[in-house]
Amino acid sequence: MTVTPPHPQTWLRVTDRGLYCEPGDFHVDPARPVERAVVTHGHADHARPGHGAVLATPATLAIMAERYGEAAAGPGRQALDHGERLDVNGVDLRLVPAGHVLGSAQAVLEWRGSRVVVSGDYKRRPDPTCPPFEPVSCDVFITEATFGLPVFRHPDDADEVAKILAARATFPERALLIGAYALGKAQRMLALLRRAGYDRPVYLHGALMRLCALYQAQGVDLGELRPVAGLDKAALAGEIVLAPPSALADRWSRRLPEPLTAMASGWMRVRQRARQRNVELPLIISDHADWDELTRTLDDVGAPEVWITHGSEEALAHHAAGRGLRARALALVGRGEEEQEAEAAP
Ligand SMILES: [Zn+2]
Ligand SMILES: [Zn+2]
Repeated sequence: MTVTPPHPQTWLRVTDRGLYCEPGDFHVDPARPVERAVVTHGHADHARPGHGAVLATPATLAIMAERYGEAAAGPGRQALDHGERLDVNGVDLRLVPAGHVLGSAQAVLEWRGSRVVVSGDYKRRPDPTCPPFEPVSCDVFITEATFGLPVFRHPDDADEVAKILAARATFPERALLIGAYALGKAQRMLALLRRAGYDRPVYLHGALMRLCALYQAQGVDLGELRPVAGLDKAALAGEIVLAPPSALADRWSRRLPEPLTAMASGWMRVRQRARQRNVELPLIISDHADWDELTRTLDDVGAPEVWITHGSEEALAHHAAGRGLRARALALVGRGEEEQEAEAAP
């Protein structure tokens, strides 16, 4: 006798706190404090403080402890390495690399022969700071669609980094100030600069120091980093300085000699956004999948059904339907805020 696996909709629901796995009795990336949370990665719109128990990769747990303190990061913390399995009340749970930031994972849930992949945030291009996204075949693939429009095609990141080095050569008397989000983007920029052969010390705004140190403690080589604080203005001529995006237009930047402002974000594709932030050198470098990466991923996982959490749901749903897939927009609350998180972070 064959038993038909239950449809994922019968055991994975959207509640006011986010995605809830009923048989496992846990939420994935809940928007508000819950008893038991599985957290895909450390960005603030996925990893909230105040849960009872948190299950995540060791690096994500370390990031949460760094950001929220040991207590608020969840007293009942459990680490699950990439590829390890855990039985949670009969739900088979695995965390698989998502290629987004250090520690990022897709949560693969399987119950009674029905498999769902909650991808969290992800990208498909190589990132020296974390292992690459692994496609897992499934019945339902849950995806973001931050850059889910055909206009979003991210260029090669090596070409974007080359623009920084070229600007530095052209303006040796100016400091090159790059705005980059504190978790993930700043460290990826550093690793990409090193990969491009840049071996001078890179200077950091104080708000980036702790997470860069955490990455280095986790074995990611970022080269020599120095704090900007306490340095003479003149000493920073011709140097590369990284700061959270909020510091670009802030008094803080006045301590730098004629700063040439750059910003690394997928949104730099949109000229108006670059202008709003007074960015002279927009760098299109994103930790989110672009349109081609999103559509390629739907092909790779081969799910007959796709649920879209946030972003440009309609465009991606339309594309999926055109390929004969069922598509559903979840419109999860509080997602996609990480592009703003640097504003709020200390
Ligand atoms: Zn994220
Ligand atoms: Zn996110």
